[in-house]
Formats: sequence, structure tokens, C-alpha cells
Amino acid sequence: MKVVEIKKPALVQMIAAVYEPIKPLECTGLLGGEMNGDRIKVRLAQPAQIVDRRPASVDYANEWKRIRDLISRSYDFLGGFHSHLRTIVQEDSEKRIDLGTVGLSETDTETMKDEYPRGIEIVIAMNPSRRKIPARVSDYRIIGYLAGRGKRNYRLEIGAYYLDGSLRKRRAELHVQKRVMNSFFC
Ligand SMILES: [Zn+2]
Repeated sequence: MKVVEIKKPALVQMIAAVYEPIKPLECTGLLGGEMNGDRIKVRLAQPAQIVDRRPASVDYANEWKRIRDLISRSYDFLGGFHSHLRTIVQEDSEKRIDLGTVGLSETDTETMKDEYPRGIEIVIAMNPSRRKIPARVSDYRIIGYLAGRGKRNYRLEIGAYYLDGSLRKRRAELHVQKRVMNSFFC
């Protein structure tokens, strides 16, 4: 099993990219750090301004290669991260709310196979919440709350994933130092 530790700067960079309540767009980016076998330290999370995440898209391929090259000059290239947000789905006359959940979708898994089959993917699910409880690590996921405007808070859930030898998706053990979590989340 892979063990992923997210260092403070990378955590801040990822959350800053995701936490943009005015424009609820899913965000994506690439990760740098150290990879020693199954021990991974994430030190850098570089957001990528990509609208279309499909590998067939030319913009996607070019921009990712550019950022990836840049990261590789100073770090081991580790993989990517992206957000899953709450979305309102309009179906006929019905409106449905899909909450953002942690986990890899089919598309996410395909992207990993194409781009970094030996890498990791960090998924951050963000949903509005009225609650606010101390950050914790539970079942390899990090759960923390951030204050929003008015009474609205945001619940963030972070998971890390990789592909095993048969390219099946697996959940990695995820770590963030306790003092980093406590200073960051409310
Ligand atoms: Zn996804």
C-alpha cells in the first residue's frame, strides 16, 4: 500500500485552488515531491487552468506537459489532484443536487492510466455545511471544515488514490501532521 503525506505548502496550495466559493468550478493540477517506493511526500501542488480534462484535448496535453516538465526540474513528479464539488443537475423539470464525494470516477481512473499510471491522484470533495467540527483523519481520509460567508461553512474531504499492478484503483494511506491540520482548518 502506498503511504502519502501531504506537507503544509502543498495542502495550502490545493485548498486555495479548490476553495473558491464565488466560482464553483472543478479545479485540477499536478503534484511534486518525493517518491521513495511506496512512501510519498507531497511538497508542491500546482494548479492547472484546464477546462477540458480529457486526454484527447490538445490544450490539456500541452499545458500538462509544460507544468510537468517544470515540476520535474525540482521534484519527483507525483501525479495530480482535482476537486469534486456539489453540482445542481437539471433533468427535464426536476432539479437534483449531487454532493461532491471523494473517490475516483471512471474518467479519473482513465486519466491516471493515460498520464501517470505509477502516480497518485488526490481528490478533494467540497460541500457547503452548517456544521464545523475539528479536523480529523478517518478511514484514510482527511476531513476538515473552513468558514465561509455568513453561516455557511465548507466541509472538505481529501483522499489519495493510486493504481495497483493490475491498474485497479486503490486508496492510499493519507497523512497530514496534526499541527498542520489544526492550524489550517477551523
Ligand atoms: Zn474526479
